[in-house]
Amino acid sequence: MEQLSHFIDGAQVAGTSGRFADIFNPATGEVQAQVPLASKEEVDAAVARAAAAQPAWAATNPQRRARVMMEFVRLLNRDMDKLAEALSREHGKTLPDAKGDVQRGLEVVEFCIGAPHLLKGEYTDSAGPGIDMYSMRQALGVVAGITPFNFPAMIPMWKFAPAIACGNAFILKPSERDPSVPMMLAALMKEAGLPDGILQVVNGDKEAVDAILDNPTIMAVGFVGSTPIAEYIYSRGCANGKRVQCFGGAKNHMIVMPDADMDQAADALVGAGYGAAGERCMAISVAVPVGDDAADRLIEKLVPRIEALKVGPYTAGNDVDYGPLVTREAKERVLGLVGSGVEQGAELVVDGRDFRLQGYEEGFFVGPHLFDRVTREMDIYKTEIFGPVLSTVRAQSYEDALAHAMDHEYGNGTAIFTRDGDTARDFANRINIGMVGINVPIPVPLAYHTFGGWKKSGFGDLNQHGPDAFKFYTRTKTVTARWPSGIKEGGEFSIPVME
Ligand code: NAD
Repeated sequence: MEQLSHFIDGAQVAGTSGRFADIFNPATGEVQAQVPLASKEEVDAAVARAAAAQPAWAATNPQRRARVMMEFVRLLNRDMDKLAEALSREHGKTLPDAKGDVQRGLEVVEFCIGAPHLLKGEYTDSAGPGIDMYSMRQALGVVAGITPFNFPAMIPMWKFAPAIACGNAFILKPSERDPSVPMMLAALMKEAGLPDGILQVVNGDKEAVDAILDNPTIMAVGFVGSTPIAEYIYSRGCANGKRVQCFGGAKNHMIVMPDADMDQAADALVGAGYGAAGERCMAISVAVPVGDDAADRLIEKLVPRIEALKVGPYTAGNDVDYGPLVTREAKERVLGLVGSGVEQGAELVVDGRDFRLQGYEEGFFVGPHLFDRVTREMDIYKTEIFGPVLSTVRAQSYEDALAHAMDHEYGNGTAIFTRDGDTARDFANRINIGMVGINVPIPVPLAYHTFGGWKKSGFGDLNQHGPDAFKFYTRTKTVTARWPSGIKEGGEFSIPVME
């Protein structure tokens, strides 16, 4: 059985805790490797080594740091196929989707090549007589990232690339479900010229996370995962005086106005609802057609598209629309929620419960499901399902549709499909959700904008990537300097004001 390691000081290091987690091939259900789960002592040792390496990295000029990112981009492109294959094998998503996972991380690395510009700071000449004032953006020191299983390439890169470009050392605790790609990324960063100790990958579970949250050397923690864990990490990290940003779960609504192009809306819903088996925080999980006529037309368009979806292993290449869920527990949880939807009175229009794939009977595949007439009280509406299940809520008016999205506890992403600019504009202005698509079902902002949800989907006051990442991973120091010919006036005893 293959045994993974940690990546410490530029080398693979075997775990010493004696605890391991199984890594599955979700398509076959087989255990294909084991990952070590770090103890508090192992985390603390990795942090101490990172702290020793960090000052020299922070003192390296930002352009040289950016060149490491430039080379890293080249290596990511060189190894794209290898990374995608490793990603699909542990996660289960299709190969084209795995390449997208690497690509959306790579784009944030490209943005980080501009770090010298983003770190320039501010300067006021002659803020007073003979006085200049300047603000520097300085690295925090050692920072950490705790990441989820569903984007094992993209989200680690969203975290470590800006942090490292800013001059920090980074402790990455990836998901224990699919840690191979994060390990490969760390090796590529070393190959790109990153000094040892600046990117440490510590594999583990709650024990490693708690060690990160309680380690006094770690100045900031970025988390992405489910909302209960986000709330836990946010409160414990903040209580320990750290800067913390946590991004949580989602329930993304897509409002379909009666004037929308129904073919376009149905195509968008099928891709956004079932792509990656629904295991995306930006997946659309609730369709909200406005009016019964629009709902009937939408369902009519959706059913044949959903029934035609090809579900299979990533080894089928481009010939599959989505793959298995990540674990057996995830599959059982999703099927349990589908059962609750039926019990609570929703209409199961497409029933994927009997889905079987010949030769892959032990895999974690779940067939596509479509519910109609879902209501607010149902568990399938309140809960993030994170599977290939789309719920349809029939709204009686635009205001009713808007209220559904506004009242839901999550606020990650949303979309509206309409041909009417006035409605789209009103929606974008009033909705209390962080990322909004207008005739775009998955509005993931590009690397030079920022990514983040509202309400229970995001905790902390800055978003991920884009300019916000450079604020999150630095702190401002403001210097007031006077270089007169000589300080002649003597002491000043009242607070200086500009006259
Ligand atoms: P998860 O919360 O189970 O795990 C995320 C990380 O937290 C992992 O590294 C895991 O090891 C760690 N963790 C798990 N349980 C813990 C505990 N009890 N104490 C401390 N640490 C713990 O999430 P997941 O299943 O890996 O990922 C799916 C979730 O992530 C979904 O809810 C999805 O919506 C969310 N997500 C959100 C975004 C976003 O940007 N908002 C992006 C991707 C995924």
